[in-house]
Amino acid sequence: MNTFFIEFRDPLFGVIVFFVIIFMITFFSYWFNKFKKQEDHKHLDNFLKQFNATPSQDELKVLISSGDLSEKSWLLLANSYFKDGNYEKSIEIYSELLKVGSKSNSRDTMFLLAKTYFKAGFLERSKKIFLEILQANPRTPQALRYLLLIYEHMKDYSSALEVLEPLEVLQESVTVESTYLRILIILNNTELTSIERVEELLTIYKENHIFTYMIFEYIFRVDYKLAWKNLDSSKSELLVDILYNLGREHLDLNIINKNGYLRELYSAKGYIQEAKSSSVFEFNVLINLDNSVNAKLSFEYVCDSCKNVYPFAFHRCSSCHSIDSSRVEMSLVKNYSKDFGEENNSFQ
Ligand SMILES: [Zn+2]
Repeated sequence: MNTFFIEFRDPLFGVIVFFVIIFMITFFSYWFNKFKKQEDHKHLDNFLKQFNATPSQDELKVLISSGDLSEKSWLLLANSYFKDGNYEKSIEIYSELLKVGSKSNSRDTMFLLAKTYFKAGFLERSKKIFLEILQANPRTPQALRYLLLIYEHMKDYSSALEVLEPLEVLQESVTVESTYLRILIILNNTELTSIERVEELLTIYKENHIFTYMIFEYIFRVDYKLAWKNLDSSKSELLVDILYNLGREHLDLNIINKNGYLRELYSAKGYIQEAKSSSVFEFNVLINLDNSVNAKLSFEYVCDSCKNVYPFAFHRCSSCHSIDSSRVEMSLVKNYSKDFGEENNSFQ
């Protein structure tokens, strides 16, 4: 029976024990390292998750009230959320700061909160806060200008006109805003006929010759004859997209033939052949282009104040809120509608 077991005094027993111990140490060391690496990954994942997820409203309350971060740091954080378009978080931070922050900065924080509400589209809430600011501090033109924007968005033009009075008292220039609001009131007045609207718009235009695009865009739409009759040809460049898109039957060739820019524009369009070249690059290319090449003008609209580019015409820039700052820029593009028309004809 004893022949099956090794005696503990046997040297072979010591060697076996030695290798068993080495095996166990290696085994445990291997699994311990593997476990540690997994824990490291988890730790890193959890650490990175903090930056992907925004803190909840309750977490924000605790963090702001603990006072670990200064009010300025919270304002910077709220501003970065605002710039990212995360208005909800920005609003939560400003609202909490108003509860626990210093009273000396409350007007500034209220202004930022109202501005964020406006940008997020909560016009009523924004209006309420701006009115609160103005009740305590009537000489705040920045709040008055935002209130003007809110009334304009709400189509409450009579209230918007009322805001201009205190702005004027504060030595702010309101001529452009006042004209703009008068035009909006006319365009939105359903009691006026289109001819009455045109007459009133022309009266405003003759006063200071601003808002050429806004006024003539409407007149060309409803009465092209009156539009041609009252258009100052030297302003044609401002309306290049409207004029380019007019139908052949809506042209006034007497006026067009008297103005070099208009002759080149309609020669480029292919309606007339009065110009052989043009100093405007796009017109010149189109005038000299073979008729079989399908090309046309495309337009985009640049805000002269902030340089933002829009695909559609605008009267007030949605980014910097400037009025009448739109400038038309043209470029040459392929005329897909002509291609499409030719393809359709080929099936007939
Ligand atoms: Zn702008």
